[in-house]
Amino acid sequence: MSKNVLVLADVRDGELRNVTLECLAAGTTAAEGGTVTVAVFGSKGNDMVEKLSHYGADQVLLVTNSELDQYTTDGYFQAFKAVIEKVNPEVILTGHTAVGRDVSPRIAARFDIGMVSDCTAVDLTEGRLVFTRPIYAGKAFVKKSFKEGTVLATLRPNNIPAMEADTSRSATAEELSVDLPADSIRTLVKELVRKASDGVDLSEARVIVSGGRGVKSADGFKPLQELADVLGAAVGASRGACDAEYCDYALQIGQTGKVVTPDLYIACGISGAIQHLAGMSNSKVIVAINKDPEASIFSVADYGIVGDLFEVVPMLTEEFKKLLA
Ligand code: FAD
Repeated sequence: MSKNVLVLADVRDGELRNVTLECLAAGTTAAEGGTVTVAVFGSKGNDMVEKLSHYGADQVLLVTNSELDQYTTDGYFQAFKAVIEKVNPEVILTGHTAVGRDVSPRIAARFDIGMVSDCTAVDLTEGRLVFTRPIYAGKAFVKKSFKEGTVLATLRPNNIPAMEADTSRSATAEELSVDLPADSIRTLVKELVRKASDGVDLSEARVIVSGGRGVKSADGFKPLQELADVLGAAVGASRGACDAEYCDYALQIGQTGKVVTPDLYIACGISGAIQHLAGMSNSKVIVAINKDPEASIFSVADYGIVGDLFEVVPMLTEEFKKLLA
């Protein structure tokens, strides 16, 4: 049965994030021939209509208030609520990102609808929409479906492939006027200070070079950064490295840090505690470098290198430089 699907675009610094295209792919599956609408908040939405239509949007709703250029819980909640009241969707999808994680539960509570978070797959099985999500810190997966009513799901970035761009597609675009009185937005964002280095965004990175307590100091991250630069990768870290003040907590991957699913995860001097694995064990290929052959990280690694990271990492950097020259 065809469904009305609504996707909330994830926009950061005026740029559309890939997870929105992944939501469109899942939304197209869920719609079963119905309409896929994307809501874009902020003044740059018009620039994104073409791309969104190429990747599966049938309709783009633009809420262009400049108050929405910067995420605030109140602003996004009110705009999202207005969009839902207009579209009346049966399925709502957002990225499992800082934005989606913050606004989605509020929307689910406000509309009293079912919600499933951090999904890694969305399938149609015997006419029923089935959402897959990890449980027990990524040790197992559960499949969920809802008997009735609207469902809201947040999708983990880098798991559901976006569709091939179809440049022959075009979507209708419509502006939706939403009244956002200044006193209804209780948060005032004065300045945005980026904590992580200005490199690749961790949660959407295709390649991550990650360091643990084994790097031994802040300077110990330098060879990892050099490897990351050659690979166009992001640098991540274990909590051990963050706790030891070798790097900022913005880099932490794991149960209480970021959850990542890159194509390649290179773990350097990380023991492989369950809380770290919770954030990276779904990476497509895992390479572990550790001088302890018994380290738990090797149990999830596709390739293991037993050795000193300060010898191995520079060697990898040199080899990749030659390969990628
Ligand atoms: P260690 O366990 O100290 O491991 C360092 C590794 O480096 C060792 O395996 C060692 O053999 C290797 N090594 C040392 N020198 C070298 C060298 N020269 N070359 C190669 N290898 C070397 N952790 C997270 O990462 N993310 C989380 O989100 C997280 N959340 C947590 C939540 C809770 C509630 C709790 C209780 C813990 C959490 N932790 C988390 C902490 C976690 O349990 C571990 O303590 C942490 O992951 C260990 O970090 P590490 O692997 O860098 O350090």
